[in-house]
Amino acid sequence: MPKRIETLVLHDSSTPVIGDVQKGGSVVVTTLDTLLNQARANALWPLTFGLACCAIEMMSTVAARFDLARFGSEAFRATPRQADVMIIAGRLSKKMAPVLRQIYDQMPEPKWVISMGACASSGGVYNNYAIVQGADQVVPVDVYVPGCPPSPDALIYGVMKLQQKIKRQSMATTKQLSLIELKPRTLEEPA
Ligand code: SF4
Repeated sequence: MPKRIETLVLHDSSTPVIGDVQKGGSVVVTTLDTLLNQARANALWPLTFGLACCAIEMMSTVAARFDLARFGSEAFRATPRQADVMIIAGRLSKKMAPVLRQIYDQMPEPKWVISMGACASSGGVYNNYAIVQGADQVVPVDVYVPGCPPSPDALIYGVMKLQQKIKRQSMATTKQLSLIELKPRTLEEPA
């Protein structure tokens, strides 16, 4: 797939006319992938989805001491329609699994999942009939954060890993997933 090149023009008070390089405007050339990925990776909005004790650590990541806002992800949303990263914090029971899947399906594309803690990632110490032995049996997981419980630092590291992953995505991939329609819009013919 041919690469698409976009030209961006930055301006400040010393730039008389946007885009006028002759008058001192700065020009940055980048790919559309880079532009989209930077925007997506640095403004992840997590979905509030605490299931057990790991959720307490997840709450701590947004408090003043650890301050997830430094990474652009402090805006936890209570509705899946306003979130793009699901953090599964705690053990996932088989009764809750269909609910988790429904909420995941309600999140808009593109979306990602972080499995936080041993229980969410593998069932942890709950190797029994009631607990799903890994949230990846229900939804696709992008990043696994180990620990019981993982510290807030570990979750922040998981968010950073997810950011790295998003920055490597290409529109070719997202097109395959039908996430972005690349065809130009055409005006409908009047009837
Ligand atoms: S991994 Fe540990 S802290 Fe997290 S939900 Fe399981 S038992 Fe609780």
